[in-house]
Amino acid sequence: MKSVEESADTTEFAQQFEDYLKSCGLRLTQKRLDILNQIFAYPGHFQTEDLLVQMRRNGYLVSRPTIYRTLPLLVKSGLLTEFIDAQKNTRYESIHSLKEHAHLICLRCSQIVEFKEPQIDALQKSVCEAHQFKPVRFRNEIIGYCAECQAELEPTSTDV
Ligand SMILES: [Zn+2]
Ligand SMILES: [Zn+2]
Repeated sequence: MKSVEESADTTEFAQQFEDYLKSCGLRLTQKRLDILNQIFAYPGHFQTEDLLVQMRRNGYLVSRPTIYRTLPLLVKSGLLTEFIDAQKNTRYESIHSLKEHAHLICLRCSQIVEFKEPQIDALQKSVCEAHQFKPVRFRNEIIGYCAECQAELEPTSTDV
């Protein structure tokens, strides 16, 4: 059964996931489809446990091991982006939500600042075109130190 609260049309994503699963000899089961729909319904970044909480709240009967096994498959299929924060936690974000922005990630406090820069998007597209490269996903992360953390760290170099 299709769930009614889907915020985005995930048909195309489900097809991409099914193609990937087939290439590994796996099937797009209802549970995998539920998880796919729920990652696209998740607003912003999440950890595996966050998704589990959301799914249970939405009435899905899904086990923790199933989610833990399925998220890496979604990453490999190109539908989910994973990144590791300063506490070495794995965080995820669907490509749908990531299309909208890129990240500045602070190494010290794990703060993630989202930004949108159409010029970067345009440049990436033209680089792909120049190389006749078909992009599946873009991943924009700048790793470093946020303003507050810089202020708290000993100044080691001259003014920038
Ligand atoms: Zn983000
Ligand atoms: Zn910071």
